[in-house]
Amino acid sequence: MNTTGPSIFTKIIDREIPADIVFENERLIAIRDINPQAPLHLLVVPKTPAFANVTELAIGDPGLLAEVVATAHNLATLHASGEYRLVFNSGESAGQTVFHVHAHVLAGNLQDHTLA
Ligand code: IMP
Repeated sequence: MNTTGPSIFTKIIDREIPADIVFENERLIAIRDINPQAPLHLLVVPKTPAFANVTELAIGDPGLLAEVVATAHNLATLHASGEYRLVFNSGESAGQTVFHVHAHVLAGNLQDHTLA
């Protein structure tokens, strides 16, 4: 549970700060990452702030996690070749900076990119 006030993603969902939104439905929003690490770098974000990381999401709402994965596939197909890398940073030491669960969808020529 988020105890530090609305996350940057909640502010984007609430239109309090701008973002490049590529997809939205009742449960998810997808935006372009402000600091792209690949030719295509999207973030697929459940709208609920209830889950800080992918483990909480998997336990609390596995159907929503499946929807995140399906949306990642659809967007990678629409905006790139359909091949993609899906990354969930989970915990500060793993590089997580926003504690509102989100999937990084990376696509393009990633052969030379490390997993980090
Ligand atoms: P994390 O490090 O896995 O938590 O990922 C957070 C991501 O959010 C980073 O890749 C940031 O570049 C991205 N980010 C932070 N603020 C914004 C924003 O305002 N718009 C789009 N992406 C953002």
